[in-house]
Amino acid sequence: MHELSIAEELLDIIYRYAENAGINKISSVNLRIGEFSGIFPDSLEFAFGVLSEGKITENADLKIEKVSPKYVCQECGFCSGEYSENCKKCGSEEMSIEGGSELEIDSFEGE
Ligand SMILES: [Zn+2]
Repeated sequence: MHELSIAEELLDIIYRYAENAGINKISSVNLRIGEFSGIFPDSLEFAFGVLSEGKITENADLKIEKVSPKYVCQECGFCSGEYSENCKKCGSEEMSIEGGSELEIDSFEGE
């Protein structure tokens, strides 16, 4: 389960920030996870909960926002959230995929 090591890394980052900011209790954490990241949100949430026991993130509300990839036309720059082989605007086949593999901490709240 690689979500466990991902959760460890995320918590490391949060703890470092919290320490610098003088935060003693984290109430919520907002994550952005790309659809193509291969991460199972449920597993990540579970790992997060287990690793947070007795820590400042204990009982923190973990919110996961799923990020969809975008399909961008290389010809005209038209951008769509839906997959299509041809650009819906100019018909070009030069489409590229952007995003979808994110794993980032959007924000967290604490006191
Ligand atoms: Zn186009």
